[in-house]
Amino acid sequence: MPSEFTGKHVTVAGLGVSGVPAAKVLHGLGAHVTVVNDGDDERARTQAAELEALGVTVRLGDGDTLPEGTELIVTAPGWKPTKPLFTAAGQAGVPVWGDVELAWRLRGPDAAPWLAVTGTNGKTTTVQMLASILKAAGLRTAAVGNIGVSLLDAVTGDTEYDVLAVELSSYQLHWAPSLRAHSAAVLNLAPDHLDWHGSMEAYAADKGRIYEGNRVACVYNVDATDKPSTEDLVRAADVEEGCRAVGFTLGTPGPSQLGVVEGLLVDRAFVEDRQKNAQELAEVSDVNPPAPHNIANALAAAGLARAFGVSAAAVRDGLRAFTPDAHRIAHVADVDGVAYVDDSKATNTHATEASLAAYESIVWIAGGLAKGATFDELVAGAAKRLRGAVLIGADRALIREALARHAPEVPVVDLDRTDTGAMLQAVQEARRLARPGDTVLLAPACASMDMFTNYNQRGDAFAQAVRELGA
Ligand code: ADP
Repeated sequence: MPSEFTGKHVTVAGLGVSGVPAAKVLHGLGAHVTVVNDGDDERARTQAAELEALGVTVRLGDGDTLPEGTELIVTAPGWKPTKPLFTAAGQAGVPVWGDVELAWRLRGPDAAPWLAVTGTNGKTTTVQMLASILKAAGLRTAAVGNIGVSLLDAVTGDTEYDVLAVELSSYQLHWAPSLRAHSAAVLNLAPDHLDWHGSMEAYAADKGRIYEGNRVACVYNVDATDKPSTEDLVRAADVEEGCRAVGFTLGTPGPSQLGVVEGLLVDRAFVEDRQKNAQELAEVSDVNPPAPHNIANALAAAGLARAFGVSAAAVRDGLRAFTPDAHRIAHVADVDGVAYVDDSKATNTHATEASLAAYESIVWIAGGLAKGATFDELVAGAAKRLRGAVLIGADRALIREALARHAPEVPVVDLDRTDTGAMLQAVQEARRLARPGDTVLLAPACASMDMFTNYNQRGDAFAQAVRELGA
């Protein structure tokens, strides 16, 4: 069947997780596809060979030259808007879409609506909680985006869905101009990826795109103090008539908000007469783990589910059924009355701040690659809760200096080894500093690649070291 892509010259920018499926789908729709890719390594060559066998043209080692005759570019989300390829596209009047925009345009006429989530931290967790709630309501759904099923597969595959829980990054939103979600949430906004977006304003504007054209609810974070706030982003968005702003808060909710009252998650947004009424959704202890930032994630997920008409009982059942992915505040073991918790996924200061706020008395294991971050605010905010700190990795001096400035009383162990035994020693040092009732928390506030393959391997090394302590 001919499609709007039949005979069209489409350039796919970037191989990899989004480029290869995009090239295949477009080729299948009858487009003349050329893939351009900066790298020319073995993985790229293998992927190129696979696509060439189908009849797709691939140019390795040059992602900057616009192929002649290009009518549309479909880019990998991570490609910077300042790349020469996009400057050339702009001059030639060629539109640029990301993988999300392509998926949005390819969805069928009866396609499932999208409930979309973005934010600096908590996206994956929230989208998984949301999918769990929607499933508990008996809906056919999936968590899609950077996790689980790919968006392109979800919209072009044979599985039928009633609704999709979609995780979107700021990059993906940047390249998705026509996306219109049923309802959407921005969880929080802290400076991140600013080198890519160019400024905090540009980053916030890209995140805020998720609210454009929402039909039922724009879910925002009442408690967030960052500027611009997520509520500012709702105000700036052009939404459909009747679409409401719905806040979530860890405090008592006002009308049109979800919040917490006496250990219960309650809804004052999707109830009759919200000036007077509130609907109990679940107990705080139904949220796993019940750390403050995670309760916020649960409230955001509940807000989106309620916007879709899901019952209070399904919110509770879905939250109870949810288990977080590995390395996100995962309780590893108790040894001698001390809890050991793996939050290796806390790769930036914003995530680590949330993690440190969840425990009363902490021996903190931190460090790695700082990616330009500063640690003064983080350390000053957590100083009172720190029993001690054990620092690892390339940029640990930055954290050590912040500790010296804001928490001079806190004992610090500085480990300068980077071999595979370093984590075991870090855990042993932490054990020495800890007292019964404390939590030893791996929440590095840094990326892991100076010492580990990724945050998974770092978390696994921590868990292994804790098991060795216990043994
Ligand atoms: P993302 O998909 O946005 O990276 P994840 O759910 O994978 O988010 O969580 C990433 C990290 O952020 C984890 O370390 C987690 O503890 C922390 N985190 C999760 N939710 C929040 C939140 N609402 N605010 C701050 N930090 C959070």
